[in-house]
Amino acid sequence: MFDWPQKTFSPQDRYKDLSSFEKEFWKKKPLKDLSKAEWELLCDGCGKCCLNKIGIKNKVYFTNARCRFLDPENCLCQIYEHRFKKVPDCRDIDLNTVFKEPEILPKTCAYRLLSEGKELPNWHPLISGDANSVHNAGMSLKDRPTVSETKVKDYEDNIVEWPDL
Ligand code: SF4
Ligand code: SF4
Repeated sequence: MFDWPQKTFSPQDRYKDLSSFEKEFWKKKPLKDLSKAEWELLCDGCGKCCLNKIGIKNKVYFTNARCRFLDPENCLCQIYEHRFKKVPDCRDIDLNTVFKEPEILPKTCAYRLLSEGKELPNWHPLISGDANSVHNAGMSLKDRPTVSETKVKDYEDNIVEWPDL
């Protein structure tokens, strides 16, 4: 989840300078060699990493309980700049996370896909050129039956096994 300021920024703005990047840069170098800007462009904006997870017997389960600060309409973090202060267990999606704890990312996460040697899907905004394609393809949290974590009593009751998690 990356820095997409809510008030002044449209997610589509992220792709307007795409021509200044090397074409298909994600195919030409490993994740560890990406610039910060390239790394951030890889995030598809699905919001699925902002679902709460629980561990049971060494296995990670996703729940449908979203972080209280995730906007379920546009799948953006509403407190991005202050997220680590306000949410101590908010995770930075970095190389360490991607390679050492891939199970906390959904199967469709672009970082996880590339780390596993897979291609980006056609609905990824870097392929489609459209920030909404992740939503239109049903691959984000938009229009899914999620609930705010503030309403959850027992996370075990909220475990979901969606195929893309
Ligand atoms: S799961 Fe991956 S691609 Fe989706 S919002 Fe999180 S970091 Fe970005
Ligand atoms: S604070 Fe919540 S919504 Fe924001 S990035 Fe972290 S987990 Fe996602």
